[in-house]
Amino acid sequence: MLLSENQKKAVKSIYNAGPAALPAEVLRQIKAAIPDAEERFESVLEIGHRTPAFEDILRPLEQNIRELYALPEDFSITFLQGGSHTIFGMVPIGTRHLKDPQFVISGRWGVRAAADAERVRPIERVADTSEKRFPEYPDLGAGQFRKDAAYTYFVTNETVQGLQIHEPTWKSWGQTNLVADMSSDLLSYPVDFSPFQMAFACAQKNLGIAGVTVAITRDSFVENMEDKGLPEMFSLKKLAAAKSCYNTAPVFAVFVSRLVSDWVRSEFGSLAAVKKESEAKAKAIYDVVDSFPETFQACVKNKAQRSNINAVFRMRDQQTEKEFIELCRKQGMIGLRGHRSMGGVRVSMYNATRLAQVKVLASFMRDYAEKQS
Ligand code: PMP
Repeated sequence: MLLSENQKKAVKSIYNAGPAALPAEVLRQIKAAIPDAEERFESVLEIGHRTPAFEDILRPLEQNIRELYALPEDFSITFLQGGSHTIFGMVPIGTRHLKDPQFVISGRWGVRAAADAERVRPIERVADTSEKRFPEYPDLGAGQFRKDAAYTYFVTNETVQGLQIHEPTWKSWGQTNLVADMSSDLLSYPVDFSPFQMAFACAQKNLGIAGVTVAITRDSFVENMEDKGLPEMFSLKKLAAAKSCYNTAPVFAVFVSRLVSDWVRSEFGSLAAVKKESEAKAKAIYDVVDSFPETFQACVKNKAQRSNINAVFRMRDQQTEKEFIELCRKQGMIGLRGHRSMGGVRVSMYNATRLAQVKVLASFMRDYAEKQS
């Protein structure tokens, strides 16, 4: 076996930032889909991507996402490879013939996407809070944006900083050309797609495992992309036209995404219900953090911008954080170390991590803090 005995120990909850926890039900279904060596059947690990069996996996996955978001008719969903990083390059390169896109940079992932875009074309930074180390979301009004930009790029949830914005913020910009990185909060609240041209996310947080990336695109935006001179795999236009099967699709990763999307529908029914649970989980953690300022300090001070998905906080010093994370690990609660560029403690609460689990962590944090005082 490739995992150490230590890693195989039973855990109560996994707070990894991504790849992240999968629903228990999905793990059961994955296991059932893989044959024993003795008992052969043609498994999902062995089927072709141009088979009816794969179509039966892919199209309902697409349909699940379409229905959960109530996507407008003129939007399509494409599954790609290469992670969100690939999209960082694909969108600016496909729109080089259009006016400079405008970027709102509010955290590490906005920085990365802007840097990649600038490798292939000029961009405009409407705001960039890197110098201040992203304490809060930039306060922007409609007057700061241009209507003729190729698109307006932003990240809905900065996974590293634990900074999240919601619909009232991006709607206040008055733009109808939005392109959002939703990698870490996909399928966690309803979205009105009318001001969007595109949203995208890697699957390994809220939609399965690493290996597949989902692009939700307005057809006219992608059809208007220019791909002359580009190798075909770099053209979102070509990949979207090929309906997720331009080249060999990551069959197994798509299969897991299908299972997760089925699970979201059967477990929650709607994204409004996911949102409700997501808010309750975040509240459970931040309530404890705010009740014990001597022990925990939230990294995002503006409560309206605190992420419901990744709660990030600091403790007295790095040694204390390390000890606290180790105590949690001993209780079966793993994956709490902050991002290497940020430090601190990060509680990543994707959909598969349920409120009951988060309440256990919150109560452990409370007991810990009470003992300190
Ligand atoms: N954007 C955000 C918001 C992310 O959290 C991540 C991954 N943590 C990425 C982009 C990069 O995704 P990938 O590694 O799949 O390219």
